[in-house]
Amino acid sequence: MKIPEANLTPIKSLDDALARCQEQGMRVSRQRRYILELLWEKKEHLSARKIYDLLNQQGKDIGHTSVYQNLDALSAGGIIECVERSDGRLYGNISDSHSHINCLDTNQIIDLRIELPPELLQKIESETGVRITDYRIDFFGYQNSVKADRGAK
Ligand SMILES: [Zn+2]
Repeated sequence: MKIPEANLTPIKSLDDALARCQEQGMRVSRQRRYILELLWEKKEHLSARKIYDLLNQQGKDIGHTSVYQNLDALSAGGIIECVERSDGRLYGNISDSHSHINCLDTNQIIDLRIELPPELLQKIESETGVRITDYRIDFFGYQNSVKADRGAK
C-alpha cells in the first residue's frame, strides 16, 4: 500500500477532498463528485459494487466502469482510503493514517484514531532500530454482548 506523503495536510472534509483533487490536477467530474459525496456521507468502508448500487438508488447517472475507474484514481491520489480484503477492496473517506477495529460478527470496519504512548513507541524503536514515522493498528474481535452506546449523550 502506498503511504501518502507526510507533508500533505490531512483531508478533513468533502471540501478538502475536492480541493485536493484540483491541487493534483485531477478533474472533478460530476461522477467523481458523486463518489466523494457518498463516501463522506456514509463514512463507512464500501465495496465498489455497493457504491455503484447506492449511487444508482439515489438516481445518480453513473456507470459501473466509471465507478471503478474513479475509485482507482481517487485512491491512487491518496484522496480516499482503499482497504484490501480477501473478498475484495473497500473504499473509505479517510485517507490519512488511522486504525481499524474489525468486527468479525458483522464484517464491519470502524475507523479509530489511536495514539500509542510515546514510551511504547520508543521501546519499539530501540528494540528494532527503526524510527517510527507512522503506524496503523488493526483490531479484531466479536461484538460485545453489552451494547456499546456509541453516540449516546
Ligand atoms: Zn478506514
